[in-house]
Amino acid sequence: MSSLAFAGRVAVVTGASRGIGEGIARALARGGAHVVCVSRSMANCSKVSDEIIALGGSAEAMAVDVSDSVEVEKACGILLEKHPAADILVNNAGIIKDAILMRMSYGDWDDVIRTNLSSCFFWLKNLMRPMVQRRWGRIVNMSSIVGKIGNFGQANYAAAKAGLIGLTKSAAKEVASRGICVNAIAPGFISTDMTARLDQKSIDDLARFIPMKRLGSVEDVVPLATFLCSEEARYITGQIFTVDGGMTM
Ligand code: NAP
Repeated sequence: MSSLAFAGRVAVVTGASRGIGEGIARALARGGAHVVCVSRSMANCSKVSDEIIALGGSAEAMAVDVSDSVEVEKACGILLEKHPAADILVNNAGIIKDAILMRMSYGDWDDVIRTNLSSCFFWLKNLMRPMVQRRWGRIVNMSSIVGKIGNFGQANYAAAKAGLIGLTKSAAKEVASRGICVNAIAPGFISTDMTARLDQKSIDDLARFIPMKRLGSVEDVVPLATFLCSEEARYITGQIFTVDGGMTM
């Protein structure tokens, strides 16, 4: 990949205000993309887009609750008035609301499914047509190893992340002939705000089950994501790539 692999590309990254999404947004911007940083809070996502611009990159911020189809549709309308298309879409925004099944509320089930899974359908539905017309696109959906192996207390999250795998493969089949690649990444346990609630003992216990003996970092996930967004990934689609230090083999 050249150092300006994304020059001329418009990239939408959801959940770009921190963690994995922020890392991907910054890397795409370093590669020359104009990055649309999306999160619920304008203050949070504009902090990242402002920093990208201060470093000489190109970015803008959009406050969108990705779990709300009306908000996503409106945001895509505004975006497509400014840009001919989103060339790259990284569906990364996600939340957890953990509880064992018997105690899980209907609301927590719905919130997690809408934020982690339905949101990706909302963005795809609104941004795919211009990609198809331009015969080029890269879509990366952020799944999780939990979507493949399940997890105690995370039935909602596991169901959403497993659903993303089906969505990724179906979308990939629908648009493969139009130069659009749709892939998913399934990270293991990555040190971000999402895992920050784990105390040191839980982290040590977890690390024992990881052949590489540590949690991953944002930097362990970003290079794969940017590669999947690149021209060079043109013959790779419908795949789920695990980044988990060997935890699931
Ligand atoms: P994080 O640090 O908690 O960041 C989550 C991001 O999503 C934030 O930017 C947040 O921004 C945004 N977000 C949450 N709800 C949103 C909504 N309704 N609308 C718009 N934006 C929303 O999480 P992370 O660890 O970087 O995780 C990123 C993705 O990787 C998630 O999909 C997660 O499920 C997945 N993943 C993470 C791990 C891990 O161990 N960390 C493992 C596997 C998969 P605002 O709060 O500003 O809205």
